[in-house]
Amino acid sequence: MKITFRRYDLRLKHTFATSRGGRDVSPVVILELEHDGIIGYGESAPIARYGESVDTVAAFLSRLDLTPFESPFHLESILSSVDESAVGNAAAKAGLDLALHDWIGKKLGVPLHRYWGLEKGAAPKTSFTIGIDTIQVIEEKVREAERYPILKIKLGGDNDEETIRAIRNVTKKTLRVDANEGWKSKELAVEKIKWLEQEGVEFVEQPMPAGDLGGTAWVRERVNLPLIADENSLRLHDVPKLQGVFDGINIKLMKCTGLREAMKMAHTARACKMKVMIGCMIESSVGISAAAQFSPLVDYADLDGNVLITDDPFDGVRSLDGSISLNDRPGIGVTKLV
Ligand code: MG
Repeated sequence: MKITFRRYDLRLKHTFATSRGGRDVSPVVILELEHDGIIGYGESAPIARYGESVDTVAAFLSRLDLTPFESPFHLESILSSVDESAVGNAAAKAGLDLALHDWIGKKLGVPLHRYWGLEKGAAPKTSFTIGIDTIQVIEEKVREAERYPILKIKLGGDNDEETIRAIRNVTKKTLRVDANEGWKSKELAVEKIKWLEQEGVEFVEQPMPAGDLGGTAWVRERVNLPLIADENSLRLHDVPKLQGVFDGINIKLMKCTGLREAMKMAHTARACKMKVMIGCMIESSVGISAAAQFSPLVDYADLDGNVLITDDPFDGVRSLDGSISLNDRPGIGVTKLV
């Protein structure tokens, strides 16, 4: 098995801002895993909050030694061994996980959703994310997102009320809110969520800092909207701890080391009576298509990362009107463009 990788700058249509700041370019690492004449593609979109960057991803991938393993079919042993080799590095590990899965699908000649026994039509519609911005730009983005039936709104900045008012002036669509840990006190979180209950919001993602699970439990007892964990649900071992505090988890391939662990998290969440959402970072069609293969298994999807960029190096699963249309290409379903 031979691995090569390159850094690639994803250019954003609009500056993307959350309660943690904004950016115009999002660097990722694209991987190619070659074995037996077949190339599997993977992607690592590093998350700064968890100490990763394209440099740490490149360093991790340069140290990878796959010589003890015969072929990508030994996925379970390869990924366990790579995971144990170093803590953290979730996005770097996810890049390898995606490339192995893509290779396996191509070798067997099946799209991954079919390999897992999932049906295309079962994928939920994806939301379209509106980042924190000036009111004028927010209204503009809401109009651009006309074809998407569900909007995900980033709150937790200092103009939450103005933002929702501006959106409600333009549309009556279902809204989902992501506070990205932005409401720092439990009293403030309750006040915000009670207000959002009146605004046609379906659920609230990560209202409070991940370190304050006790505060989140206090909020849970006082509000009606479902709470979905994101920064609190990084990996499999986080899931059981969230039962009774959150109503669901947002799984992201770049937080959880890839598809193999995502699958385990989904089943664990179900066993804990929680809903399952699949989310993403700013990713090319490699990461988004991989997540889309998994999406028939989830309740909610937020897979718009490749729609927010202007220089996608791959063609893959599309979701232009919010419907995730899985194709019949093998593996994760992508074709290289650049
Ligand atoms: Mg989130």
